[in-house]
Amino acid sequence: MDAITLSAYAKINLTLDVTGRRPDGYHTVRMVMQSVGLHDDVTVTRTGTGGVTLACDKPFVPTDGRNLAVRAAEHFFACTGLSCDGLHIALKKRIPVAAGLAGGSTDAAAVLRALDTLYGAGLSTDALCGMGLALGADVPYCLVGGTMLAEGIGEALTPLPPMPDCWAVLCKPGFSVSTAAVYAQMNGGDLPERPDTAGVLRALQAGDYAGVCHRLYNVMERVTACAHAEIGQIKDVLLACGADGAAMSGSGPTTFGLFRSEDKARKAYAALRRDFPDTHLTRMQPGWGR
Ligand code: ATP
Repeated sequence: MDAITLSAYAKINLTLDVTGRRPDGYHTVRMVMQSVGLHDDVTVTRTGTGGVTLACDKPFVPTDGRNLAVRAAEHFFACTGLSCDGLHIALKKRIPVAAGLAGGSTDAAAVLRALDTLYGAGLSTDALCGMGLALGADVPYCLVGGTMLAEGIGEALTPLPPMPDCWAVLCKPGFSVSTAAVYAQMNGGDLPERPDTAGVLRALQAGDYAGVCHRLYNVMERVTACAHAEIGQIKDVLLACGADGAAMSGSGPTTFGLFRSEDKARKAYAALRRDFPDTHLTRMQPGWGR
């Protein structure tokens, strides 16, 4: 096999809590992560000559060593000792960039999986997750996907019962936020309000969709929403259209609503697209398994 195309799924945060800060400066987190069907297409081709090249259909995405997919390939060869006989990565991006949806991390995870198959490396998911962690805290989750509790800096993963199937409307307003800048305002995890993570875990265990929806909570939302009124406006539209719950994902600014009703989800999608073209209608996505 010379080429493989994988779907690289976006994630949303059903909860996001910042629990502290390690001596090395990384924040520790506790979050319930969920894959959604919105995905990039990642095609990895062995070309037989040269190094690692990348092309992307979005001109503002870097195609050199700043791209996490390129770094993933280089890291794979460095870790396995396999020699690169020329590799081309083609990215078709659908996931909004710098949006809190782990777009770069999921592309990197797809490259690691693709190379494991193309080179017959036979690495375990744990080994791939170890490699992925060196690229970014969300990469191990993206290698596994589905509904997961992520702790540590995001790499300590516990599988959860799947989120009951529903629709999601994802809306990225026309600005980006720096994850590092949002963390810098998190006050070392000393926060006035926290998500009811235990309640979400109980609701997932019971298959209680409404119980998850009314507990969606992201401690970073306050920081981003204070600086950008759009977050509140998007939530208002989602809830007015009948969302069962709404929250910001990751460090933002993408804000999402969950819907049992397809009709209401489509109504919210149409309403938001008028002002925010980077709006997407999608569903929950199961994981890859371990
Ligand atoms: P994070 O929370 O880690 O910042 P994100 O999901 O909010 O992740 P990404 O879409 O990964 O954001 O983009 C963050 C930055 O990474 C952007 O500035 C972008 O230029 C760069 N980047 C590197 N590789 C990729 C990639 N494969 N796809 C999208 N952006 C990438």
